[in-house]
Amino acid sequence: MNPKSNPLPSKSPPEFANPDSPSLLAPDEPPLRVMALRALYYCERLFYLEEVEGIYVANDHVYAGRTLHEEVVALDDETPERRSVEVSSQYWGLYGKVDAVRRRDGKWVVYEHKKGRCYRDQNNKPQPWPSDRIQAIAYAVLLEETLGEPVPQARIRYHADNVTAFVTIDEEAKNELRQALQRAFRLRRSCQRPPVTENERLCPHCSLNVVCLPEEERLRTHSTTSPPRLFPGHRDRETIHIVTPRANVGRSGDSLIVRTEEEKTKIPIHQVDSLVLHGFVQISTQALHLCASKEIPVFWISAGGKFIAGLTSSPGRVQQRIRQYQALTDPQTQLRLSRKLVLAKIETQLRYLLRATRKEPDLRNHVDQHIQRIRECLNKATSAPSIDSLRGLEGMAAKAYFASLPFLLKGKTADEFRPNGRNKRPPKDRFNCLLGFGYALLQSLVLRSILAVGLEPALGFYHRPRSSAHPLVLDLMELFRTSIWEIPLLGSINRCYWDPQEDFQITKEHVWLSDSGRKKAITLFEQRLQESYFHPYLSRSLSYARIVELEVRLLEKEWTGCPDVFATMRIR
Ligand code: SF4
Repeated sequence: MNPKSNPLPSKSPPEFANPDSPSLLAPDEPPLRVMALRALYYCERLFYLEEVEGIYVANDHVYAGRTLHEEVVALDDETPERRSVEVSSQYWGLYGKVDAVRRRDGKWVVYEHKKGRCYRDQNNKPQPWPSDRIQAIAYAVLLEETLGEPVPQARIRYHADNVTAFVTIDEEAKNELRQALQRAFRLRRSCQRPPVTENERLCPHCSLNVVCLPEEERLRTHSTTSPPRLFPGHRDRETIHIVTPRANVGRSGDSLIVRTEEEKTKIPIHQVDSLVLHGFVQISTQALHLCASKEIPVFWISAGGKFIAGLTSSPGRVQQRIRQYQALTDPQTQLRLSRKLVLAKIETQLRYLLRATRKEPDLRNHVDQHIQRIRECLNKATSAPSIDSLRGLEGMAAKAYFASLPFLLKGKTADEFRPNGRNKRPPKDRFNCLLGFGYALLQSLVLRSILAVGLEPALGFYHRPRSSAHPLVLDLMELFRTSIWEIPLLGSINRCYWDPQEDFQITKEHVWLSDSGRKKAITLFEQRLQESYFHPYLSRSLSYARIVELEVRLLEKEWTGCPDVFATMRIR
């Protein structure tokens, strides 16, 4: 018999579970994991993010803990004990898996293994941390109920300093557990995220700090707090674009295999941030399963550069979406966020034109009337009374802005690249073809950032749900069109980066990018995402790829207790 999975014999009735008392759970509530109590004691917000919103991120501490448990189980293979014992209780509303239970002096004892150090009391005696203690108590009472006999003690082995701390399982301990569960169930029924913990020292070790952004919230309420550092400034994985026609993406183990007529490339899945398939690239069901299991989104973009679809295994974060729905269906919130969005967009366009013409008075003269028009729109937008009026002002500013862009192309620029107004679906000139292709890449980036945060992309606040594109994606794209694509695009044309013949496919009806043109556009876009930019709210630089995700997280804070942090970034 395999001791690792051997359950202990159950002796009913569970007299240790107060059978006369009703369950702590409401009839329709699911039981709680014992591990959730550790999170509750560590930080109530962490508990809420994991148990209510279903957000789990395993960081190095979590991985190290898992490895330790596997090693401990392997090392102890000869001792008379039961390991990985599954226990649960209807009364307590709890379930979990005890590391080990052993017979000591005729009684069963719960053993838990921890990688770190213990807490020391004033006599330097090893004591369990509160979060470890509550976990050990929970396992002990569940074991009592399973066995129908007392489990008077739990022991916690701290491997970093090689000591064992003891927990007595008495009425006081059980009351502590009862109170913790009442608090946990109350939090689980709430629609409000608890505030960030006051103990700032916990956050750097928290697995969800990049989701929670505690420093950003503290920065808002305590102006003396030092600039946030927890949100990573750069991506640690890559977006893989497959552009070769008739390429095929398959799977081998935990890697994606990309086959073209010329070569076969193996890409370990842990290096992949998302997969973008351009044109008629094929992908196997097995490769899709691998991406779905690792929560790696897959996007399809047409050969003509139109965003077609995205596939993602989004976790069901019901509470998070209920809050988004409540916020974004409120007309006041819609108007407030729309105004912030439109102001950010118009001001970015204005700043770009001013910056590009600062040292060239003749050029400034050419675009001056457009600049004045944009300024007027910006002033009016600050007090626009409705979303419709904001849309009108944004449209007027965009017209003036696009009318200015041809003047920013240098004299040596080939005539083929000079746009003839803004046109799309399909683009009629090279400039508009390039604009549209970059926007499609931006759309996939914004969509995957929204899904990574857990928001519903179909529920926006500014764009009307008219096309197949998700309104929230269209909303957030407005923040980045100029900074992530239009600025590097104009720079590339001025550097003669594009070949007017080789990089384009031209028919009477439309202009598309050729294979070489697509590869160049993707390179330009991805290079831009690696560039860092100073984010005023964080007071530090982040890559553009991270800034997009940060803005989605800051948007969510607008309705989770930390308003006025969204859309503050402007180009200088
Ligand atoms: S980052 Fe800090 S405040 Fe946020 S969940 Fe973790 S411990 Fe709590």
